[in-house]
Amino acid sequence: MNARSYKGIEVFRVAAAFLVVAIHTSPLGSYGLTANFILTRVFARVAVPFFFMATGFFVLGGGRSARGSLKKLLIIYAASAALYLPVNVYAGHLQSWDLPELARQVLFEGTFYHLWYLPAAILGLWLTEKLISGAGMRAAGLIALALYALGLLGDSYWGLIEDVPGLSGVYNAIFALMGYTRNGLFFAPLFMWMGCALRQGRPRFLPDKAAFEAAGLAGSLLLMLAEGLTLMFLGWQRHDSMYIMLPAVMYFLFALLLRAGGAAGLPLGAFSLLVYILHPAVILAVRAAARILGLWDILVVNSLGHYAAVCLGSAAVSALLLAAWAKVKPWRVSDTARAWVEVDLDALRRNAAALQEASPEGCRLMAVLKCDAYGHGARRSALELERMGVKAFAVACCAEGVELRRAGVRGLILILGYTPVSQWRVIRRYRLTQCAVDSAYARALNEAAGKPVDVHIKVDTGMHRLGESWEHADAIAECFSLPRLRVTGMFTHLCVSDSLSEGDVAFTELQIERFFSLAAGLKARGIDPGALHTQASYGLINYPDARCAYARAGVALYGVKSDEHDGLRSWPGLIPALSLKARIGLVRELPAGESVGYGREFTTSRASRIAVLPIGYGDGVFRCAMHGGAEAIVNGSRCPIVARICMDQLCLDVTDAGDVKPGDIATFIGRDGGETISCEEFAAKSGTISNEVLSRLGKRLPRVYKN
Ligand SMILES: *Cc1c(COP(=O)(O)O)cnc(C)c1O
Repeated sequence: MNARSYKGIEVFRVAAAFLVVAIHTSPLGSYGLTANFILTRVFARVAVPFFFMATGFFVLGGGRSARGSLKKLLIIYAASAALYLPVNVYAGHLQSWDLPELARQVLFEGTFYHLWYLPAAILGLWLTEKLISGAGMRAAGLIALALYALGLLGDSYWGLIEDVPGLSGVYNAIFALMGYTRNGLFFAPLFMWMGCALRQGRPRFLPDKAAFEAAGLAGSLLLMLAEGLTLMFLGWQRHDSMYIMLPAVMYFLFALLLRAGGAAGLPLGAFSLLVYILHPAVILAVRAAARILGLWDILVVNSLGHYAAVCLGSAAVSALLLAAWAKVKPWRVSDTARAWVEVDLDALRRNAAALQEASPEGCRLMAVLKCDAYGHGARRSALELERMGVKAFAVACCAEGVELRRAGVRGLILILGYTPVSQWRVIRRYRLTQCAVDSAYARALNEAAGKPVDVHIKVDTGMHRLGESWEHADAIAECFSLPRLRVTGMFTHLCVSDSLSEGDVAFTELQIERFFSLAAGLKARGIDPGALHTQASYGLINYPDARCAYARAGVALYGVKSDEHDGLRSWPGLIPALSLKARIGLVRELPAGESVGYGREFTTSRASRIAVLPIGYGDGVFRCAMHGGAEAIVNGSRCPIVARICMDQLCLDVTDAGDVKPGDIATFIGRDGGETISCEEFAAKSGTISNEVLSRLGKRLPRVYKN
């Protein structure tokens, strides 16, 4: 998942960078030592652990290669050290360097005071990844915690052991080697591990509630304040980066920030990194400028004025550098360079609201996000829906469920399909809810699982695909008593809810009746069948009165019908969210009688202008669409697809579309000017239904999100 979808985290990166600036400039220094201590030695101490947690969250938890990130960090470190080399030389720091001192500087101290963060991030990331892959998540957490505890004694709690003969000797040896304990060995791993763990969800034993986390943050911050002040008055602190309360503060802070989703829009991560790296240089520049301008009192002596000047200066330089970079941006392929899918998130949100509105009292929307949310992009869609209050999601398989959890989705995630029982640990770890495909499967899962797994029981009421037969009430009842299954729901699937013919309506009503009589029978035996659900999109629209806890809406959520001619009692204002577009690569003039493409299957019947587009069946424009009369809109005019569709290319006859040039956009699904090609039309001309078109949109197509 792109880091930019976590707005809370991204915005706080900037705040954290300015907190680091505060540590180095003491904004309240002119106003009171204690106030300044509280700001810079207690509260601002969240900044660096926050950066470590974000690294753990996005790199270790996001399944990104630590190697790639380590390489990036090394380059940033080398560049930053080089940037400050002249200052080091000027200040005379270099003259005293011998080899052990040099090693200490490079490995732990970062060569310039604030740069210690970079070697700490590098060592911490490397070490934490090794711990997790070598010892497993739980043991790695314990080791990281132990390292942190050891580090505390060399940092804020130094006074506790300073006079203990053996111990202080050991620590003095550590200090000789690495200067401080707030480094990549003792400090960083715990926070990197916490970030990684949070990516897999909040711990089960803590309430998943914003109010709880806000109260936790306030409480732990107060305790950390008390801790910091006590340690200061005791005079125990050799350094003041590490507190006992800091991990608790960081958990609540990060968990709260995770709740603010959505796109940040700006490259705040890069901005905060630049502010972090550049601010010491800006401190020097502010001093120089103050001297030249005769503003020494305001810009240097006054601590707040100094802080403001350094912040503004750092922000301005960083923003200018980023703007210059954005102008150049040499290596990034534009999302709309070739062919792409455009997703209107506002339409998706409005459809979800409309479906929720159409659901009867007590029935909640379960957004079906299988097959990458019918091509719309599962992670982004899920986060967007979760933000507007959708609390349940369905996927087809275990891997899709893991993907959503890792993207930060917190609600119920139901796996609709089969998962081998050997995967029970994955199901449990990512708090997924597995569909028990029949009673034999439920028993096998119970047998295999070492600890309880969440399950919804699937009941076959006549479709004869997945599910235990509704007639086997005893077998189904037994599933509820299996010790390692936590059965939280029961569901069935309707197979002709898309038809309003008399026979099909009767069959659907029979399915619903079978399901609810089974549920009533279970209740009569004293079994709570949990959340009941029967309807997919069409079931919800055509049979809104079924008394269900969830409606599993897929295709309608995306604002399309499977087939234009489906039997539907209503269509509650749903609008298509997806468009498929490609750029024209070349426009060719051909006289009448010339053939185009493989097999010479198309021959111009008149002098023609043929546009070649870089999109093909590899992207989901079916090869058979040419014979079905499929079209694309160019300049507001419909143009037929001509000649055989290739894997990566196809041709449009744009003779009647006016002035068409390379680079112009063709719309295969969606609207351009007054013309619209619906997904239903595109599907019908390819001899299939919308669902197949959407689910087969190629991986190669970037998803571009609007609104
Ligand atoms: C795919 C699927 C759905 C969603 O179906 P739509 O018709 O797209 O709403 C619901 N339930 C099950 C079991 C499914 O497999």
